[in-house]
Amino acid sequence: ISWIKLLPKMNSGGETEALERLNKHLDRKAWVANFERPRITAQSLFASPTGLSPYLRFGCLSCCVFYYSLRELFMKLRRRSSPPLSLFGQLLWREFFYTAGTNNPNFDRMEGNPICVQIPWDHNPEALAKWAEGQTGFPWIDAIMTQLRQEGWIHHLARHAVACFLTRGDLWISWESGMKVFEELLLDADWSVNAGSWMWLSCSAFFQQFFHCYCPVGFGRRTDPSGDYIRRYIPKLKDYPNRYIYEPWNAPESVQKAANCIVGVDYPKPMINHAESSRLNIERMKQVYQQLSVPIHHDVSYYSSRGLSKTCANLSGEEECFEMFDDEQLIKRLHFLIKNIITDFSLAQVLCCLKNTPVIISEAIYTV
Ligand SMILES: Cc1cc2nc3c(=O)[nH]c(=O)nc-3n(C[C@H](O)[C@H](O)[C@H](O)COP(=O)(O)OP(=O)(O)OC[C@H]3O[C@@H](n4cnc5c(N)ncnc54)[C@H](O)[C@@H]3O)c2cc1C
Repeated sequence: ISWIKLLPKMNSGGETEALERLNKHLDRKAWVANFERPRITAQSLFASPTGLSPYLRFGCLSCCVFYYSLRELFMKLRRRSSPPLSLFGQLLWREFFYTAGTNNPNFDRMEGNPICVQIPWDHNPEALAKWAEGQTGFPWIDAIMTQLRQEGWIHHLARHAVACFLTRGDLWISWESGMKVFEELLLDADWSVNAGSWMWLSCSAFFQQFFHCYCPVGFGRRTDPSGDYIRRYIPKLKDYPNRYIYEPWNAPESVQKAANCIVGVDYPKPMINHAESSRLNIERMKQVYQQLSVPIHHDVSYYSSRGLSKTCANLSGEEECFEMFDDEQLIKRLHFLIKNIITDFSLAQVLCCLKNTPVIISEAIYTV
């Protein structure tokens, strides 16, 4: 993509660079030992020179090397920090999506994808283009999309913010469209992780708490109250006072003039009323979920058509329902599914029912 101006620090590829970055990670022992989950801070929004995801994506860094290096370090430090609250957890999410994508050629689309809830998304190419080009009128969303275009990387929770905004949060546009934009622009674009994360964020699979929505104003403001991130990626807004940088449309005319940026002329008006659209979308999601009366894992024909009738009988027989199992029973089924590399709704269903999913997956994947 010729117009992406990649920063020099993201430019060098190869194993040598990957291993140097890994060593820098590991050198920061305290950071590794205390790593919990991808917290978002104002500073973490900017790409780190030790970021590893593109290197993992292109195979410059083996995830086994990463895993065993971390393990060795944790053992040395004698600190037990178990997934998902450790860096292992992050790596295991990658394995999780790889596992979930195995044997499912339609993992990256809604149609024919047995784990994906079918949601009647709107077809709105104009709104999609505004989102993709960072022209939504919400500085937090636009800054993230601009960073993505310029650098090919954005923070994990920034990905959450823009993915939620595009899909169930505000624009009600299919996750497939967002996934394609990410695929084009992310340096670490990875088939399974990208598709799986988009399904997750849009409540199409794995995650169902559609009543939790990110606010395109409040999330950014809490993360970076002074708006430095926005000033960097949307220089037009650089002279706005902190108070209005996340919602410049609310600034009095005198403030807009003083900042040399009139909303609606120099910077777009917000393309949507967030409060109204998110309320409406939550209602729409509620209806979609209410219509899912028969869990897909009870559809015997799906399994038997794949020669999985035994699993099917085991998993979907009688009135069996995963929610009624305790963790131990679920883990047994999870082991069975992973051993047989079966990736379908039943696996997702088991994982959703487990109380501490990533911990269980970590045990399951690395012990089976
Ligand atoms: C909508 C959406 C799309 C995404 N698309 C991709 C993608 O195409 N490719 C990709 O590698 N990651 C993707 N992620 C996951 C995650 O955002 C990135 O892996 C992470 O931000 C990369 O930054 P890092 O190198 O600092 O990772 P770190 O936080 O340092 O983690 C180390 C490695 O663990 C893996 N990892 C971390 N978090 C996750 C996660 N939640 N799920 C899966 N693997 C994880 C990655 O391989 C990463 O390089 C996506 C997340 C979302 C919400």
